[in-house]
Order: sequence, then C-alpha cells, then structure tokens
Amino acid sequence: MIAEIIAAGSEMLTPFRQDTNSLYLTDGLNDLGVQVAFKTIVGDNLAHLTGAARIAISRADIVIFSGGLGPTEDDLTREAAAAALNIELHPDPAILTQLYKRFAARQMVMPPNNSKQADLLDGAIALENINGSAPGQFLDTTVPDADGKPIRKIIILLPGPPKELKPLFDHQVKPRLAASLPPRHLAKRMLRMALIPESHVDARTAPIYKQYTDVETTILAGAGEIQLHFVCAKPTLAEARHRVDELAEKIEAEMEDTIFSSHGESLEEVVLLNLGLRDLTLATAESCTGGLLAERLTAVPGSSRYFLGGAVVYSDALKTTFADVPAELVATKGPVSPEVAHALAEGIRARTGASLGISITGIAGPGPGAPGPDAQKPIGLVYIGLADAHQTQVKEFNLFGDRERIRWWASQNALELIRRHIL
Ligand code: ATP
Ligand code: MG
Repeated sequence: MIAEIIAAGSEMLTPFRQDTNSLYLTDGLNDLGVQVAFKTIVGDNLAHLTGAARIAISRADIVIFSGGLGPTEDDLTREAAAAALNIELHPDPAILTQLYKRFAARQMVMPPNNSKQADLLDGAIALENINGSAPGQFLDTTVPDADGKPIRKIIILLPGPPKELKPLFDHQVKPRLAASLPPRHLAKRMLRMALIPESHVDARTAPIYKQYTDVETTILAGAGEIQLHFVCAKPTLAEARHRVDELAEKIEAEMEDTIFSSHGESLEEVVLLNLGLRDLTLATAESCTGGLLAERLTAVPGSSRYFLGGAVVYSDALKTTFADVPAELVATKGPVSPEVAHALAEGIRARTGASLGISITGIAGPGPGAPGPDAQKPIGLVYIGLADAHQTQVKEFNLFGDRERIRWWASQNALELIRRHIL
C-alpha cells in the first residue's frame, strides 16, 4: 500500500508558509506500515486541484487531502475529489443540522456559503470535527483501471488547520485505516557512527543492506556523525524486529567499533555509559570549545556521577591558574600546541582527581591564532589531549568550516577519543 498526500493551499506556494501537515500524516501512516510515495502541494485552483487528484488516485492506494474544506470560494477540495473520482457530492442532512446548530449556539445566522461544508462525496463517511466547522471525509471505494477492473482506493479529506487535522487523523482516520489494511507492524532501528565519511559507510554497508529488500535503509549525514535508519513492516512485530535486528547485526559486524550506538543513543550518552561501566570519572579543560564538551555531557541526565566538571581555560593565564600549565610552555609553544594540550589534560586530571582528563585547544577562526607562536597556525588546527593514570596522548586535527562547525567537530572528536580509549 502506498499513499499520496495532497496539501491544498496557495499560501504554501509562497515563501511564507510551509506544509507541515504532511509530515504529521507521514509519521502516522508509517506507523501503520504505509509508505508515502508522493506529496503534492497545489494552489487553490479547481483545475489544478482536480488534475493533481486524478494523478494521485491513479498512482496511490491511499490519497489524503489536507485543507480546502472551508466555506469560502477558494475551498475546492470536495469538488476536486468528486470530479477526479467521477462521482457526485450530496448534502448530508445531519451535517447540515450540525452546522446550523453551531451558528445558532453563537447567536449567528449561518451564511449560505457554509452549507457546502455539508457536501459529502457519494459513499463517504463524515468524520466529526469538534475543533472546527468542516468535517473530514473517509471514502473506501474502487475505481476502474485501464481494462475496467475495479481497484480499491481510500480517499480521505481533512481540514487544513493543524489543530483540527491532527486529532481527526489520530482518532478517526488511523483506526479506520488500521481496520481496512492487512495487519502490519513496524520495527525501526538506528545505528550511529561518528567522524566517518558517508561514502565510506555506504560503500561498506550497501552490499549488506541491499540484500534486505524488505527493510528500508536510509543513510543520514549529520554534524560529525552518520546515522543508518532501518524500517521494516511485517504482519507481526516479531517478524519485523527479526529482520531489522538481523540486518543491524551484520552491519555492526562489518563496521565494528566505528558504530558508537546500536539503538540510537547519542555519543555523549554512550561515553557516560562506558565511564559508568568501568567506574571511571572524567574532567574537561576546554579552550576553543568554551565549555561545549561539558555542556554536551551535562545535558545527559545522571551525568554527574561520572562527569566531575571542568574549566573553560580560554586565556593563557587561566591555563596556568586552573590547570597548572607552565606559563613558559604556553609562551614558547603557543596555546594551540600539542605540548599545551598534553599539559592541560594532565593538569585538569590532577586538579580534579578524575580518572580521565581531556583537553581541547585550537583555532576556531574566523581570525588567525593569537600573536606569537600561534600566529601562523591554520584555522581549524585543534589538539585534543587525553590523560589517564598511566599515559597521556595528544591528537592533532585539521578541521574545516566555520567557527561553529570547527567547535562542534572538536567536541565530537573529543567524545569519540574518550569512547575509543575506554573501549
Ligand atoms: P478552514 O475551515 O479554516 O478554511 P480548510 O480546511 O479550508 O479550513 P485551509 O483554508 O486550507 O483549510 O487552511 C486553513 C489554515 O490551516 C491555513 O491558513 C494554514 O494556517 C493551515 N494549514 C493549511 N494547510 C496546511 C498544511 N498543509 N500544513 C500546515 N498548515 C496548514
Ligand atoms: Mg479554508
């Protein structure tokens, strides 16, 4: 079963309004195992809307219209759907009575225009809209194919305002769809990898996931991470889970320890989890990231058990005051140097008594490094130091992009360094 969503409304063809209803509907349809194959946005024009409706009905099993059920001249969805299906509209007496009552309750006379909101597609069920005047419609019907053979189609009309569309969809459309469709359950899973190019991930995983044609695999590249999303729909949840888990296991075996998360956890959550498993504590000394790493760690509930805290040692002087980096080392090597990253990691570890000390120092740009030894160093040069009881390692990174990107990637690299160290 595939679906098409038609969002009616000229305002969504301007730069000022977006069609968000279709995102909501897509999420709900996916829950039922229905994939959305097409989305169309059409202006308030009867010919255009009828044309779009005809195409949708010809290529999708389920067509959901959003908007254009109001009482005004430009609300044309009912008329367009009827024309595309070659059926009539008829006024529904019960809805008409409801509309009159609605107006009477507000001491108003119903304008004649409003009566068209009571027009139902022949054969459709009206879906009561307690948040607005236009009811939705649900039509389970057939249309003839090229040879005249009947093909089943489900046509759904929903009002445009999201606060009307959402409850109607959840309470009246989803149960009806679930009852009319073969039972299907959806299993989803997400694997996440840090700091690896999308093309590498695809080259290594495609030969595996392409064998699972019943699992939909999507690769998404984000800020310093790659996500692999798997979705599978089956008659039972157990079957769907089995397929998704089997594929995820094979991908995990191929990608090994580059995968930091096998059920969607964030990198900071995984780092904290691993610290906890080994009863380790962590402290940070951050220069160019200005506390971003500490902020990411402390955003995870319960982080205080393993993350002790840290210092934002932005100036040269504070690197000495808060992390005991010798002043002459900063002066001779420059604050962005492997020597300073080394001393910072050891310094913050000693100061705080943490099992692990991590340091980040770099040039985030857009201006060059400070006058002195750093003046000629390139933007994006970052050193990350990691100290434990036995040794201290320093890694050099040459990051690119703007200030925000360099800072984020520095924090991402620091988290990944800690994760790999603990493993
Ligand atoms: P009404 O009875 O309010 O006229 P309607 O069913 O005719 O309802 P529209 O006139 O198309 O709906 O839209 C009403 C409002 O709902 C729009 O101004 C817009 O704010 C919102 N809306 C419509 N369609 C969408 C959509 N696809 N995504 C998000 N918001 C939408
Ligand atoms: Mg309207």
